[in-house]
Amino acid sequence: MDAKISVTTRCNARCKTCPVWTLQGDDMPAGVFKEIYKKLMTDPRIDRILLNNTGDMYVHPDRARLWEIIEATMYKPVILTTNAAEMDYCPKVTKIIISFNGYDKASYEYTTGLPFDETVANIRSFYDDLSELNAEIHTLAWGDIYVPNIEERVRDLWGDFPGRVRVSYKTDNQQEHDIPGAPVHQAEARIPCDYLDKVNIWPDGSIIQCAHDFRGEGRFGNILTTSVFGSILHPDRMKLKAQHAVGAFPGLCATCNYNTPTDGRIVYVRG
Ligand code: SF4
Repeated sequence: MDAKISVTTRCNARCKTCPVWTLQGDDMPAGVFKEIYKKLMTDPRIDRILLNNTGDMYVHPDRARLWEIIEATMYKPVILTTNAAEMDYCPKVTKIIISFNGYDKASYEYTTGLPFDETVANIRSFYDDLSELNAEIHTLAWGDIYVPNIEERVRDLWGDFPGRVRVSYKTDNQQEHDIPGAPVHQAEARIPCDYLDKVNIWPDGSIIQCAHDFRGEGRFGNILTTSVFGSILHPDRMKLKAQHAVGAFPGLCATCNYNTPTDGRIVYVRG
């Protein structure tokens, strides 16, 4: 099982595809992070630790301390996802995924509200460090910026990136951004959600349903007081998993379009 920690729910971006920045954000204190990180690092049921969930770690005021904690103890893979606009240090983790939702200045700035030129220059300034890791660029091809040659545009933009580059046609933030008429975005059967097989942690230690549970509607305990095993077997998680298994998607899941097959929707255009 993967554990996904939201060390912060604050974000410097203003993405049209994600509402987290419209909500009040919180930071996990470094001491709390240390306790949670150690618990997950030493629990045999956790295979990998994923940072961050929603929000961006580079806005955390105590991030230098967080990098120290992470780099001091890494017995299993640690994967960081960031928009990299505020990246000021490349931590020695297993993998860094850069979320870059656009293929030129207009599409990127429209989607994220972040400055294109500065962000591209910042990412390029870390190429030497990123080449030492397993680095990837991920671009979401969502409705308002979709063009038929989006894969070539993204590949051209990141022709010199020291890692893999992918385009995803999965829209997954309950914002109804599927592309009408584009074959890769047509609705099809929903499947049991893989988020129910993850331990998704908020800054206060709450174990929430998934990355799209922006208001913490589904809670499977608190990692500070609940064992990893206890959260995995939490009655509410078990009940929801059983419902998904028979094709029932209640509550928050009713309007979600995340849990659809990925076949043909995730395309590596480079690497
Ligand atoms: S299907 Fe349900 S559990 Fe899965 S991402 Fe959507 S809201 Fe979350």
